[in-house]
Amino acid sequence: MICIGAGPTGLACAIEAKRAGLRPLVIDKGVLCNSLYRYPVNMVFFTTPELLEIGDLPFVSAAEKPTRVEALKYYRKCVEHYDLELRLGETVTRVEGSDGNFRVHTRVTENNPAIKARDGGSGAANDDPVVERQKGVSSRESHGDQELSRATKSTPLLAHEKVLPAVHVFALTGYHPDFDFLRQLGVKLDLKTNKPALDAQTLESNVPGLYLAGVVIGGNHTSEIFIENGRFHGKQIIAALTGTTLAVAQP
Ligand SMILES: Cc1cc2nc3c(=O)[nH]c(=O)nc-3n(C[C@H](O)[C@H](O)[C@H](O)COP(=O)(O)OP(=O)(O)OC[C@H]3O[C@@H](n4cnc5c(N)ncnc54)[C@H](O)[C@@H]3O)c2cc1C
Repeated sequence: MICIGAGPTGLACAIEAKRAGLRPLVIDKGVLCNSLYRYPVNMVFFTTPELLEIGDLPFVSAAEKPTRVEALKYYRKCVEHYDLELRLGETVTRVEGSDGNFRVHTRVTENNPAIKARDGGSGAANDDPVVERQKGVSSRESHGDQELSRATKSTPLLAHEKVLPAVHVFALTGYHPDFDFLRQLGVKLDLKTNKPALDAQTLESNVPGLYLAGVVIGGNHTSEIFIENGRFHGKQIIAALTGTTLAVAQP
């Protein structure tokens, strides 16, 4: 199972998946909680900390409302606690296939922080070999460990491109939804609101096996879904996948 987006919703989904015995892989084009990372530096949340909690882990802040830094530290701790598998600085470019047999294409994000750190801040990645990596990802088995790496000077445009097989794909791509990306996945968007077509109970989109969660569900109306309510979408999806009954939380 692949979760696209390591925001609060993506992390909450991955946690629920892991609790249900699945093995999720979370991919983000930026850093962990990229949207929160890009908030104004001294921002204070309008939400109290308990309403930002995921995975039943307590979030305690020094003041009544948490700061951006406290939230970033909290979500980092959640990742560590649940030992989530993350790929940061990797953009999902397209998804092929169908339910039970997806292939998720990724590309190392230009100027990604991991490359910057490795190259001492230059952002250059000229010495990277072309890497094609294949990992088996299924809903109830561990990710396959087979990994293919090969350098091919004649195909520079494929630098950093990877293809990952997946049984299910979750698109949790964010505070400012990338509508072109969603259309490219085959998701139908409402002409006026850009809200995606999905089953309100299971959050499965019109593409079987592709689930949507978090702020992306609100289309243009990003004010309808916050961390406060988006954090429960993972429970809904995993309940649907595992056949568990769950009351649907209203936004
Ligand atoms: C200034 C500000 C203050 C806010 N204050 C609050 C508050 O107090 N309380 C509250 O509940 N909410 C608040 N929000 C809203 C909150 O930030 C969002 O509701 C929340 O971030 C949504 O979480 P998400 O996981 O759905 O999306 P995001 O946090 O946006 O995460 C989506 C992730 O997907 C990644 N992504 C996108 N496309 C791709 C791709 N193609 N490949 C790989 N990765 C991709 C992005 O990098 C991002 O990390 C605030 C928002 C702003 C801007």
